[in-house]
Order: sequence, then structure tokens, then C-alpha cells
Amino acid sequence: MSSIRVTVWNEFRHEKSDPKVTALYPRGIHGAIAEFLASQGFETRTATLDEPEHGLTQEVLNNTDVLMWWGHMAHGEVSDEVVARVHERVLAGMGLIVLHSGHFSKIFRALMGTTCNLKWREIGEKERLYVVEPGHPIAQGLGEFIEIPHTEMYGERFDIPAPDTLVFISWFQGGEVFRSGCCYHRGAGKVFYFRPGHETFPIFYQPEIQKVLTNAVRWAAPVAGPTVTFGHRPQPMEHVEPFLG
Ligand code: ZN
Repeated sequence: MSSIRVTVWNEFRHEKSDPKVTALYPRGIHGAIAEFLASQGFETRTATLDEPEHGLTQEVLNNTDVLMWWGHMAHGEVSDEVVARVHERVLAGMGLIVLHSGHFSKIFRALMGTTCNLKWREIGEKERLYVVEPGHPIAQGLGEFIEIPHTEMYGERFDIPAPDTLVFISWFQGGEVFRSGCCYHRGAGKVFYFRPGHETFPIFYQPEIQKVLTNAVRWAAPVAGPTVTFGHRPQPMEHVEPFLG
């Protein structure tokens, strides 16, 4: 089997403007994610907001099996044309993994059809993500829960449609809970939203988080399913004596 082709997209702004984030992710969040995914044998590339067409040309998308999305402060700068292009590819079978603050990205909101709003707080509290679907491919190799020592809190209600499968629920030290690992099918494509990943904490270096994202890439990759046809079918598949009234 040829390797899965992953494109890691990042708006790549915090790393340029906040020294704390620059120190944590010197090659950008996209660079850190692409590095560990490449070590798992995936064919990885990166794309960022300030590249022409945000690095997501039709050619790049046509050669992407799974697109990973990290954005936060510049969702509004992502062109509607590129969003439509990504949306079309997801419906045609490309996997999409939306990370953390990507809940407010144009592409995630378009795919969900809701506001995707939530509660949040940034005081560096602890998070415990419980695996609530232990037989799911994304839970492969994990323990019963993952602990993140310091994180930003996201709390319910998270305004999303009920996931097809909910894989993780988070508990936060401050008392809130959150649906942190949500799987959806959209057309022929699969979408996974994964909550952790705030830019000021070393979350993407944590081995269990890398494991989740590695599993998620495998789960979201397209399968060689049937080519689906739509529309008028004048010829029945079995003999039918026409009844014209
Ligand atoms: Zn954040």
C-alpha cells in the first residue's frame, strides 16, 4: 500500500508574533506536526495562510489524502474560494482533521452547519481526556485517558451537530466538560475534530497526542469505495412490467 499523503495546514501567525510560541514551535505548529507524522511513514507536506492560495491549490488538494487544519487568529483571512475547494474535496473523500481553535474555521463551520461556539478560559489548568469509544481506530494503543498538565479550557455547550462517533470527552480542573474527539462522515469524506493544541503549551510534542493524530490520519484516509452515481435511472435493474395507470 502506498503511504498516506498528509498536508498539514497552519495559519502560522502566533509563531511569528508571540515569542513564547516561537520558542515552543520554532518551525511552526505545522512543522512540529509534519515532523512526527513523517516519522510514522506518512508522506507529509505543509501549507500556510500567507502562501499563494494559502498553499492549498487544486493540485495540492488533489494529491492530499488527509488535510490537517490549525487556525486561530486569522480565520477571516482564509478565502472563500479555497474553503469551497477544500469542502468539495472532503465530500469527494479527502479526510479532514480539525485541531483545537480550528472549531471556528470557515471550513469546519461549513461542514457542521452550526456556529461551533463554545466556552473557554486560559489559566493553564489540567485536562483529562477520557476515551469513551475504546474500540474505535483512533483509540488504538491508548490508555483509558490522556492527561494534559496545562491547557486552555474549552467547555460545553459546544455548538456542533451530534457526532457520528464521539471518541473523547474532556474533564477540566475548573469543572467543565467538553466533547473533545468528534467523528463525522460528510459525503465520501471523514472529518475528525480534536480539541487539544493551544499554541502556548507543548501539547503537540506529547506522545499520546501524537498517537491520536497518527491514528486519526489512518482513520480519515480515503478508502477505495464504490464510485457513486446519482440521478435519473430510467432502466430498472430487475424486470418491471410498466404500469402506466
Ligand atoms: Zn487556544
